[in-house]
Amino acid sequence: MYGFFWHPAMLVVIPGLLLALYAQYKVMSAYRKYSQVGASTGMTAAQAARRLLDRSGLYNVKVEAVPGHLSDHYDPRTKTLRISAAESTSLAAIGVAAHEAGHALQDAEKYPMLALRSAVVPIAQFAPPIGIILFFVGLLFIHSQPLWTAGLILFSAALAFSLITLPVEFDASSRAIRVLRDSGIVVAQKELDSIQTVLSAAALTYVAAAIMSALELLQYFLMARSASNDR
Ligand SMILES: [Zn+2]
Repeated sequence: MYGFFWHPAMLVVIPGLLLALYAQYKVMSAYRKYSQVGASTGMTAAQAARRLLDRSGLYNVKVEAVPGHLSDHYDPRTKTLRISAAESTSLAAIGVAAHEAGHALQDAEKYPMLALRSAVVPIAQFAPPIGIILFFVGLLFIHSQPLWTAGLILFSAALAFSLITLPVEFDASSRAIRVLRDSGIVVAQKELDSIQTVLSAAALTYVAAAIMSALELLQYFLMARSASNDR
């Protein structure tokens, strides 16, 4: 049996960690760059979001400013779009706000992958921490097959969640570009390309997260298997 906190299978997550760090760096540098570039329409991120929502008849969706850096999100339960750089007129802020408006549009038309993701959220949010706890409890009670199985189910749920997230995020970003152009909020191709750069970098973080989930499941599986061989 290997030491309590070390196992060679832990190495399998390293490529995932490196990709996650790279994606984080890309999104930060793209956001920093384009938060210095103002959109030619001079509209704030909050105004842009409001116009995109109204255009689709989503008058019931509220737009609020939220503190924090890149803490933007759409809350489907309260139908609220929260924007961190609400007063910014930069391409980065408008792009991120339009992406969140894209989620509100998905919600309004009952986009199936979004509904599916919302259904998995409660399990997936706690899956990795519970999986890790189960893993260590499993090491202590190494004869407990049900604990290992429970861990595998939780890590699989986390992977399912991050895979379902991918089409939801890609769709929200392509909607963002489309509605910004169609609404006339951002018309210059150069500006749209800059927004695309920010949103693509953000999408890469979701791809990295999905790969990381897959590697965590693999790591767990390998460690569980070698523990059961030790029995
Ligand atoms: Zn999103």
